[in-house]
Amino acid sequence: MVLWIVPITGFAFLALNEIANPRGALLGKVLWKGDRRGVALTFDDGPNPLYTPRIFEILDRFQARATFFVIGRYLKEHGNLAVEASKQGHLIGNHSYSHLRTMNFFSAKKLRQEVLNCQNEVEKWVGYKPRFYRQPAGFRNPNIFGILKDLGMTMVGWQVRAFDTQRREPLAISRRILKKAEPGGIILLHDGSDSIQNQERTATLKALPEILQAFKDRGLEFLTLDELLGMSKEVK
Ligand SMILES: [Zn+2]
Repeated sequence: MVLWIVPITGFAFLALNEIANPRGALLGKVLWKGDRRGVALTFDDGPNPLYTPRIFEILDRFQARATFFVIGRYLKEHGNLAVEASKQGHLIGNHSYSHLRTMNFFSAKKLRQEVLNCQNEVEKWVGYKPRFYRQPAGFRNPNIFGILKDLGMTMVGWQVRAFDTQRREPLAISRRILKKAEPGGIILLHDGSDSIQNQERTATLKALPEILQAFKDRGLEFLTLDELLGMSKEVK
C-alpha cells in the first residue's frame, strides 16, 4: 500500500511545483532574483485610482523606482496612471488583460490573446510592449512558457511576498518583507485588486515607508526589473 504512495505524491508534488512555484518550473524559466546591489519592488493588480497615486507619492519621497504589473483592462479607464508611472521612472509589466482565475485552464490560443491584449493596451499608453510578465495568482498554465518565448517575453515570480491582499495589519506586511527579503530579491506587493472584493490597500500603503526606509538603511538600491535582471524593459 505504501509503495504506490511514493510515485503518486512525487507526481503530485511535481505537478504542483509546475503550476505554483514562484521561482521555478520544469517547463520554463521564472526569474525571481537579480543584481544584489538592490531589490525590485513590484506592485500587482493596478492601476487603481485610489491607491496607485499614493504609492507614487511614497516612492517619490524615498526616490525609489518600482515595477507595476498592470491588468490590461484597467488601463481603458486608468491608463493615465500608467503614463504617470512611466514619467516618474517606474516600469510597466504585463499581468494579463483580464486577470481571470480560470486562466490556468485556457487554451493556448486564448491565453496568448490575454497576454497580447495587455501588451497592446500598455503600448498604447506608455509606448512600449513590456518584456516582463507575471501570471495572475502565481499559477501557471503550462502553455504560457511557449507563448512568452514566442513573444520574446520573460516570466517573473518573486523572492518574497507579503500576502498583502489578505492582511490588514501594516506591521505584519513590513515585518514579513523585511525578515525574508534578500539582496537581489524581487518583492511582491499589490496596489490594486482583481475584483471589487478585497481591494482595500491601506495596510500596504502604511507598510511601505517602513519597508523603503529599512532597505535604504541596508544600503540597497531600488531597481526596476530591467535593471535588477540586466534585461531590456521591452520586447524587440
Ligand atoms: Zn494579480
